Amino acid sequence: MGRLPFEYYLTLSTMRKAIIIGAGPAGLTAALELLRRTDIIPIVIEKSEYMGGISRTVAYRGNRIDIGGHRFFSKSDRVMQWWLDILPMEHRANGSERIAYQGKSRSVETPVKGPDPAQTDSVMLLRRRKSRIFFNRMFFEYPIRLSADTLSKLGLWKAARIGFSYLRAAAFPIRNETNLEQFFINRFGRELYLTFFKSYTEKVWGISCEQISAEWGAQRIKGLSILKTVVHFVRQSLRNNSEIAQKDVETSLIEQFMYPKFGPGQMWEEVARRVKEQGGEIHCGFEASRILTGGDCVRGLEAVNAKTGERRTFEGDFFFSTMPIQELTRALDQPVPEHVREISDGLMYRDFITVGLLVEELKIRDASGAGLIEDNWIYIQEPDVLVGRLQVFNNWSPYMVADPAKVWIGLEYFCFDKDDLWKLDDSRMIELAKGELAKIGIIETSKVMDGCVLRMPKTYPCYFGTYDRFSELQSWIMRFENLFLIGRNGMHKYNNQDHSMLTAMTAVDNLVQGRTDQSNIWAVNTEQEYHETSDEREHDGNRIGSSAIGSRGANAPVAR
Ligand SMILES: Cc1cc2nc3c(=O)[nH]c(=O)nc-3n(C[C@H](O)[C@H](O)[C@H](O)COP(=O)(O)OP(=O)(O)OC[C@H]3O[C@@H](n4cnc5c(N)ncnc54)[C@H](O)[C@@H]3O)c2cc1C
Repeated sequence: MGRLPFEYYLTLSTMRKAIIIGAGPAGLTAALELLRRTDIIPIVIEKSEYMGGISRTVAYRGNRIDIGGHRFFSKSDRVMQWWLDILPMEHRANGSERIAYQGKSRSVETPVKGPDPAQTDSVMLLRRRKSRIFFNRMFFEYPIRLSADTLSKLGLWKAARIGFSYLRAAAFPIRNETNLEQFFINRFGRELYLTFFKSYTEKVWGISCEQISAEWGAQRIKGLSILKTVVHFVRQSLRNNSEIAQKDVETSLIEQFMYPKFGPGQMWEEVARRVKEQGGEIHCGFEASRILTGGDCVRGLEAVNAKTGERRTFEGDFFFSTMPIQELTRALDQPVPEHVREISDGLMYRDFITVGLLVEELKIRDASGAGLIEDNWIYIQEPDVLVGRLQVFNNWSPYMVADPAKVWIGLEYFCFDKDDLWKLDDSRMIELAKGELAKIGIIETSKVMDGCVLRMPKTYPCYFGTYDRFSELQSWIMRFENLFLIGRNGMHKYNNQDHSMLTAMTAVDNLVQGRTDQSNIWAVNTEQEYHETSDEREHDGNRIGSSAIGSRGANAPVAR
């Protein structure tokens, strides 16, 4: 079939179809937006049996796992309202609450007559966020700060070394910094970098900080300066007023975020239900394996069911893709220029394993020494174990756990799918996880009652490999006028749920407005990267480094 002008698709009035690859946040948002705002019928092709993609909730024997821990918070009112239209906010006495996240704050309505989570399932909870760093078998504040607490835990000698290397970095910065290691050292000093940044960042990304570009750090870690840090430290040191100090601590601890009663997947299962109810289709178990094109238009796709071997062809007028751009490029039925294929094949992804463990109790306790710790998650900075983060699902939502007397935790491992770790069978993976947590003193292995393993490929699109040439691939693919790349892996962009949703919403806006230029879709989350004024940023809870020194309340980026 020859090329059809884009206007052709815009003027068709009956039974126009949009084929959407993937039932994650981006794909499902696109589907619901199309149903709400156009006469285009969305047909979603999903290779798994689940709704929500990376943002799904996995149920295991009555307990629920959130892969990565998904906070619901957005700077975008449109996204916040969209979420609350699907799952209304739980009731609170005040009628509204101030919530904060990543150094930003906003208010959210908590209607007095809103649903009560004890009675209703369709409800969004408001949760407090707490996370700390576990290093040297001790807890440190997160983001790490040069506070008296930090210094006393590190000891006088280490603290002095950190101070000196800090001053040295300020006086003699590395000229022409090109890699992330140099970036960190220039901002924090070598000693602090080696203590808190290096091993965790490398655990998350699987390559040395020397192989990650400094530019990436510059994009993600804003506004940090040695001067600022030192001023903050001096202020802190001079501050004997414990009331003020306490106020600081409290402020950093009352970050809050929204969270569906049964985890993020509950949001996407409900959206999927509405898509079907309003006339859309969702075909699970079908993997898009071949993209059928005609000139500069996509006309259909072939999908195969891995279980039954059944092949189906889906034809449509518009195509939205959230599948990894690398796989999309490989699936195209027309020749791809050599340089474009090279860039696509060279893109890299980090994969993710969660080991869920049900335990009678943890060895570590809350401040009173009696109860469960309050952390939602803990960064495990210990270099002698592979585990990167520990989730405590009880603290995300008590409804994630079948028996509230038990503790339901998730150990997170970052790896490549070629690594031996990825290939370990479930029982050995569970043994590894139990052994590691026992080794660092968080549990006793005898208290573990059950366990399960989840492997999630391509969780992190990497900003290394051939990423520096990504724009060439992007502009070549954008020649397909009726194809919208949206979401996280769809655009190979470090998008959170809200960004992924905004890319889908913007694509539908363009259809509604007849706009053919897609640059506004690619601009989502880019402005934020470049214009954000917060001192630090964090993504998906993974840090690139504990950059919070010298500021408070906000989270650090680095690698997640
Ligand atoms: C550890 C971690 C923590 C995170 N924490 C947060 C957080 O706190 N807050 C937040 O907002 N975001 C968070 N995120 C980001 C969030 O998970 C993503 O932004 C979001 O899930 C991306 O949505 P998506 O629809 O683009 O892609 P995905 O969620 O990846 O969904 C894509 C879907 O497409 C399907 N698919 C892929 N290929 C094909 C194919 N060929 N054919 C058919 N179907 C296919 C997949 O099975 C999947 O269901 C986190 C991510 C990670 C990894």
